[in-house]
Amino acid sequence: MRTVFRGGLVYDGGLSAARPADVIVDGDRVVAVVPTGDGFPTVDGLPADGLRTDEPGANGARANELRTDDRMVDARGCVVMPGLVEGHAHVTFPSGLGALEGGFNPPVDVSYFLRSHPADELYATAARNAELLLGAGFTSAYSAGSLLPGDTEVRLRDAINAGRAAGPRLRTASVERDNHFEGHGGDKHDTAGDPVGVAAFVRDMAAAGFENIKLLLSNDDVFLAGGSQMTQYNQAEAAAAHRAADEAGVFLNCHAQSAESVKIAVRNGFRAIYHCSYVDEEAIDLLEEHRDDIFIGPAVGIMWANLYEGEEFGIDATMARQMGSDASLAAMSRLYPELHRRGLRIVPGGDYGFPNNPNGRNARDLGLFVTLFGFSPIEALHAATQVGGELLDRAGDIGRIAPGFLADVLVVKGDPTRDVTLLEDRANLLAIMKGGAFYKLDDALAGRPTVGAVR
Ligand SMILES: [Zn+2]
Repeated sequence: MRTVFRGGLVYDGGLSAARPADVIVDGDRVVAVVPTGDGFPTVDGLPADGLRTDEPGANGARANELRTDDRMVDARGCVVMPGLVEGHAHVTFPSGLGALEGGFNPPVDVSYFLRSHPADELYATAARNAELLLGAGFTSAYSAGSLLPGDTEVRLRDAINAGRAAGPRLRTASVERDNHFEGHGGDKHDTAGDPVGVAAFVRDMAAAGFENIKLLLSNDDVFLAGGSQMTQYNQAEAAAAHRAADEAGVFLNCHAQSAESVKIAVRNGFRAIYHCSYVDEEAIDLLEEHRDDIFIGPAVGIMWANLYEGEEFGIDATMARQMGSDASLAAMSRLYPELHRRGLRIVPGGDYGFPNNPNGRNARDLGLFVTLFGFSPIEALHAATQVGGELLDRAGDIGRIAPGFLADVLVVKGDPTRDVTLLEDRANLLAIMKGGAFYKLDDALAGRPTVGAVR
């Protein structure tokens, strides 16, 4: 049975305005997007026999003709758009909406690391978070790192792909490899560096099933005073990681706050470069030069949460300053409009998974892109859909509402192309379809009276 989203405005993931159209899904794919009124009757104007333009399976059946057994979804008053892609996911960071883990709230409380967590408990937490993401409209997620060593994300990805768990299509990432003797959980590091050890880490993580390998190319003020300016890997180590990643067919991602760490990332094939708060002119030029090969993720959500939503979790103004959140947010607010102007691909995804920034709240990044970085609402949606598909290396497959694309479809009440904050309220997500299967189909929407049957 096909599904037809009828009578809505369609935002297709690109940079064009939404337009009235119907969307036809067959199996796991979008097969047609038919401008309303152009060879396809509108819902309101549908003639009584309008549905019977084709018989199922009839020879010469055209994808854009209705069939008698099509399931109709009434999208009037809604925008039909691609599922969102989370560009900096941490499903293993324990806090989710409605389930906050105070013990993981660095640097206020790191007791989470001091307790033992059976593998099944870690898996259950991540699985819950994955479902929170899907329920928030994220049909795909690009992981920015596992919290702990272990195969939680790999197990979860496989379970999601097999239909045994609900969640976004997950591109997994390894634990974040530190490289500083003072850093949390860090490896020993001397001035000569350890390219052999770095390459071995990349190979081991790839062999364990991770598709993204995460390195902390810089430290961070959250971990240690002045950490954001501390570059933790040298050129030889990054080059060794690059060679090993290419051989293993995995992506390199990094946490990079200092200018030097960003330059090392760009020069050594890192695909997703996170934060970049303190880049200099040389680094900005380098980023622009390589803009077709890289993605930038500010992870702005956590900075915002630390500054404005931390009090009840012990993160007051003094603490936020110690964590570098005010300096980082101020730097990002200057930098990202410039990176955007220069055509960098910037992806939403804001380190959700902390008590003051829980998994499930991820759509809030889009609004911050608009208010802080000068994105138009459509540019923010584009960053979270089509650009997300490119980030996943699945351009042409994920991130657009267009024939041939996977049917990851949201039906959003109201018009998020004018106000992206509508996406923050899951009550506005009337339908969430992933790969042609509904995760959510609001009764009100399916049950609305339409001309012709909703089956
Ligand atoms: Zn992160």
